[in-house]
Amino acid sequence: WIPDFGAEGYVTRSYKMDELDINYEEHGAAAETMRILAVDQFDTQFCMAMGATILAINAIKAHHEGIQERLDALRDLMTGKECGAILITEPERGSDAVHQLTVTEPQEDGSLIINGEKIYNTNSPKAKWVVGYGTAVANEGNQMTQYLINTSWDGWRSERVFIPWTPKIWIGHNHLTNIRVPPEYVLGGVGKGRDHLFEGLILERIGIAVGNVAQAWTALSHAFIYINMRKQFGQEVLKFQGVGFTFADYWARTTNLTIGLLKFCE
Ligand SMILES: Cc1cc2nc3c(=O)[nH]c(=O)nc-3n(C[C@H](O)[C@H](O)[C@H](O)COP(=O)(O)OP(=O)(O)OC[C@H]3O[C@@H](n4cnc5c(N)ncnc54)[C@H](O)[C@@H]3O)c2cc1C
Repeated sequence: WIPDFGAEGYVTRSYKMDELDINYEEHGAAAETMRILAVDQFDTQFCMAMGATILAINAIKAHHEGIQERLDALRDLMTGKECGAILITEPERGSDAVHQLTVTEPQEDGSLIINGEKIYNTNSPKAKWVVGYGTAVANEGNQMTQYLINTSWDGWRSERVFIPWTPKIWIGHNHLTNIRVPPEYVLGGVGKGRDHLFEGLILERIGIAVGNVAQAWTALSHAFIYINMRKQFGQEVLKFQGVGFTFADYWARTTNLTIGLLKFCE
């Protein structure tokens, strides 16, 4: 579905994207919040998969520096023609994303040679463009790098790992073997990777918060219908304080979160 949504301009509305001459009139954090609310309530997993493309978009948008190769990748992703992925997690480095074992060795011509293993990367078995992280010296957070890979390049191998809670989503285990990343695709050279990582994680967490609110509304909608229909002791269970008051509280908390997020968007 991503190409269909992309054709209508619904991959992300965070940006105007004037650098690609896309120029969305409705754009910014509030527009993106409305987009996520809508898509997530119809299909949470689809929204999450498209979200991984957005993470790649965020990184390239922040660091394309007007370089044509990066803008071409950005257009592929913004229009939904291709999907993207983000490679942070490694088999031995999950929560601890700043002591990576993937080595990105800088070359004299400005390129990087990459060797390592990444896992649980959403979309990666199907992605054309992936934004990854590594480090010039294993375990050294202050030597981290950020790079863009076209998965058709030599040295990329991806297989799907099955996560039972996300059966629709293609989550990958990726092997990077002597991949050469030309300078045009190095988004952050040695020492810049960690800052770029956290810059991306901030945006990602805001998107996750909107998704959480959407999922709370979806769960409440189902529950409101059920408690209006289910009868016990001769009346709808909504009318018992233990149920009705609890749901009034959930409703208030979810409303507060939604308004808080919209306030944040301002
Ligand atoms: C559906 C799905 C999609 C994903 N998509 C991506 C993606 O697109 N790109 C990507 O790079 N990664 C992705 N991930 C990986 C995700 O980022 C990692 O799963 C996450 O960082 C946690 O790492 P881990 O699973 O190795 O758990 P671990 O870090 O090994 O944690 C194990 C347990 O220890 C706890 N723990 C760890 N450290 C601490 C601490 N300091 N204090 C207290 N408790 C701690 C954790 O909370 C957890 O309960 C995805 C994961 C899932 C499940």
